[in-house]
Amino acid sequence: MTDAEIEDFLREMFEENYELLLADGGHALSPEVKNAALSQVLFYWRKLKGIATKVTDTEVLLVLPDQKSPEGRKYTIEGVVDIVQEANRTVMYDLKTHDADYVQNNLALYEDQLNVYAHIWQALRGLPLHETAIIATSYPLSVKRALQPPVDQAKLDKALANWQPVVPIPFDKKKVKATIKKFGKTVDDIENHMFGPCTVAKLKDKTGGSRAFGQDVCGNCDGRFSCSAYREYARASGHRQEAQLRAFMEQVDERDRAERLDASIPAGDARFRWKPEYKRLVSRFLKQHFGGAQGLTSTFPWMETHSEENGYSDAIDTRVSAKNRTEYRGLERFAIQYFATAQYEYAYQHWLMAACWRREDMLSNSAEDEVGQKGVEYCIKHALYNNALDQWQQNRGTENVPEPEQFDISDLDIQQKEEQGLLQIEEHSKRNQN
Ligand code: SF4
Repeated sequence: MTDAEIEDFLREMFEENYELLLADGGHALSPEVKNAALSQVLFYWRKLKGIATKVTDTEVLLVLPDQKSPEGRKYTIEGVVDIVQEANRTVMYDLKTHDADYVQNNLALYEDQLNVYAHIWQALRGLPLHETAIIATSYPLSVKRALQPPVDQAKLDKALANWQPVVPIPFDKKKVKATIKKFGKTVDDIENHMFGPCTVAKLKDKTGGSRAFGQDVCGNCDGRFSCSAYREYARASGHRQEAQLRAFMEQVDERDRAERLDASIPAGDARFRWKPEYKRLVSRFLKQHFGGAQGLTSTFPWMETHSEENGYSDAIDTRVSAKNRTEYRGLERFAIQYFATAQYEYAYQHWLMAACWRREDMLSNSAEDEVGQKGVEYCIKHALYNNALDQWQQNRGTENVPEPEQFDISDLDIQQKEEQGLLQIEEHSKRNQN
């Protein structure tokens, strides 16, 4: 393959990966960010093709099983490395998403890990090893600066030429025992719930390099948006990036809360948890039955303030919680009526809309209590039960009738729903006749 063909291949793989991530997480990148990510892949390849083309074993899994922590817990150490073997010389590379300056300034952190990997490779696998090194994939500050528009090509070329992503790490057999002991202590700390975020002062600390710990380390930490230290660090900082981050975090706050809400549903049957894909279905059902969310609002006006005598308008802000309650209860009433008249498809759709409305109500009121969560779960159970009934109705005679117990619903509940639904329809007909 020529260099040009390899770059075309990388572009193709990048696109494919992006599509997969998009389908999986649903988060699109702006064209600028996407281009920047692709450029990083290409620059990285151009810089490291000397090593990349020589790698003989990629993503080698190294395992050190049956370790015992100081408190007697069993654990396993695992790591993934790349190996280059040529002319009787073996080099082990460990890829890190940090930048090379940070690695250089914190060598001890990386030495510990690589020493253990080297020990597994040499002592347990009995294979030769001559060198270990970190490959730091993040751009150094000089390249980041040179990439800021307007880009001065000469400056960028110089910064790229000076970029040294490979940081050799000397390995020392004598340290392995102490490092494994340290890992064991960490295992005990985690199991004893002895962990917490660093202090905000630590996050501001730049002793590891030109960038603060909060940028270099926390920036790669999956827990950062629920980390109190990181939030404070980001909010306290006056930099432009942090201002953008603050805006981003405010959006994430909402997403975080939704995720926490889902995660905090009492550990019951996972089948009845809210799933992100329901949202798309609900928006389709809303359009189908009410023409959209606004149509739902006018179908279930807030009756508590509305009366013909006092002349109050029934218009009310949909964000008012009592109004939301009116709406999800209205949806549940419709669902029950459809169920009682064996219109299971519509019953399913209304139960799912009610689940969504209950959930939205909890999110907008920060009322993430167990009762509210049970309410969502209850609607989902009925939605799934009615969906199964609908399937059965369509294939009548070829399948067994779904039983409410399969959906954790009691017979008594079903009986009551039938009675309630029929009674509501009867009362409505009577009112219309009078
Ligand atoms: S963001 Fe992650 S790495 Fe940073 S302090 Fe919080 S938990 Fe630690």
